[in-house]
Amino acid sequence: MIDHTHDAAASTWVAGADAHEHFPVQNLPLGIFSPVDSTPRIGTAIGDWCLDLAALASLLPETTRSALAVPLLNALFALPPQERLALRHAIFALLTDASRRGEVEPHLHRAADCALHLPFQIGDYTDFYVGIHHATNIGRLFRPDNPLLPNYKHVPIGYHGRASSVRPSGTPLVRPKGQLKGPNDAAPRFTPSQRLDFELELGAWIAGENDLGASVPIGQAWDRIGGLCLLNDWSARDIQAWEYQPLGPFLAKNFLSSVSPWVITREALAPFHVPQPPRPEGDPAPLDYLTDEADQQCGALAVRLAVTLSTRSMRDAGLPPVTLSQGSATAMYWTLAQMVTHHTSNGCNLAPGDLLGTGTISGTTRGSEGSLMELSRGGTEPVTLPGGESRTFLEDGDELVLSATAEQPGYRAIGFGLCAGVVEPAR
Ligand code: MN
Repeated sequence: MIDHTHDAAASTWVAGADAHEHFPVQNLPLGIFSPVDSTPRIGTAIGDWCLDLAALASLLPETTRSALAVPLLNALFALPPQERLALRHAIFALLTDASRRGEVEPHLHRAADCALHLPFQIGDYTDFYVGIHHATNIGRLFRPDNPLLPNYKHVPIGYHGRASSVRPSGTPLVRPKGQLKGPNDAAPRFTPSQRLDFELELGAWIAGENDLGASVPIGQAWDRIGGLCLLNDWSARDIQAWEYQPLGPFLAKNFLSSVSPWVITREALAPFHVPQPPRPEGDPAPLDYLTDEADQQCGALAVRLAVTLSTRSMRDAGLPPVTLSQGSATAMYWTLAQMVTHHTSNGCNLAPGDLLGTGTISGTTRGSEGSLMELSRGGTEPVTLPGGESRTFLEDGDELVLSATAEQPGYRAIGFGLCAGVVEPAR
C-alpha cells in the first residue's frame, strides 16, 4: 500500500505546502469546503489552500467523476478502495507536475477564506470505549479495586450515539442543561451542567456497505475504513452520572459531537501502520472472529494526539493556549478493524459516511489523559492554568482544540487539521 505518493522527498509547486504542518502533498485529505460567497464542493487541502476537485473532475479518473459532482463524500466512499487510490494518484500527479500548474492553480482557494463543512451525510454514529487507560481511570473513580468490568477484554464495548448533532470543528458548544442529582442533592434538579468535559477520540469514517445480515470478516475490515478524523465527544459528567444506568449514555453525550472536517484517507495513512501493542500477560486472547495475524502486525496507527485549552481570560491577556494533554493512538485495546468486525458481527449493516468513535484515548502517565474527568481526578484536583486560573471542568468562554499528527521514521508526517470548539453559556 506504500507507494510514490508517500515518498518523503515528493514536492509540490503549491507555495508553502512542502513545509506545511498538516497538509503536505503526501496527505491529500478529502473534505467539503465553500469558497467565499460560493456553494460547497469536494476538495482537498494542500498547504494553506483548498483545491476544488469538482472543478477539476475532467482531469481526474472517470470512475470518480459523478461522485465528485456531489458536495458530500458519501458517493465517493461507496466506491471500491482502488477508485479512491486512483483519485489520490491523479491529484498527486497534478500537484507535483509543474507543467499542470496552469490548469490547476485557478482552482486553489485560500483556506483562511473558505468554510469547511461536515464531509458526509452521517447515517449513524457509534462510539466505542477502546481506550483502555481511559476505561481504567474512569472505572477506578467508581470501583477502586476493580476498575474494568469483566466483559472489557472480551468485547469491544460501544453504544449507539446520535448522528444529527455531529458538527464540524468551529461549531460553538452551548452548555447543555439537564436533569442531574449530585451527591448532596436531596432530589434531582434541572439545571445547566456544571461538569462539562471533552473526550479526545479518533473517528473512523466508514466506506462501502455490507448488506443487513452480512458480517465483515476481520481480514477485510480495513477495506471498510475510508479514513480518519479527530472527534471530540463533549460530555456532561453530572448528567451522565445520574442517567447512565441501566442503558448507558443518552443526553449527557448527544448535545454536540465535533469532528475535524478533513478526512485523512486510509491511503494516506499507509506508512503509519504499526503493530498492535501485545496484550498484557494473563489477558484473554480475543475470540476467533476478532483475531487476524495481519491486523495484530499492523492494525494500530502511529498517531500523536494533543489537546490545548485557552480560557477567555488567557486570550484577553494575550496568553497562548496551554497543552492539557498529549498522547498516542496506540493506547487502544482493540484495533479499528476489530471495531468494524465486531460492529457487523451480528449482521448490522454499516454504510458509507457512518462514523465510529474510538472512545476516549488516554495514556498511562500524568498529562496524557484524554478528558478533564481524568486530568482533575473526578474534579478533586484542579488543573492549574497560566495566568492563575484553574479548571476541574470546562467554563464558559473556554476554547478546546484537539490535534493529531501521523508520524513514522523515514516518512513525511501528516496532520489531521484541528477540531476546535468554544463553550457558550447555557440558553
Ligand atoms: Mn466517547
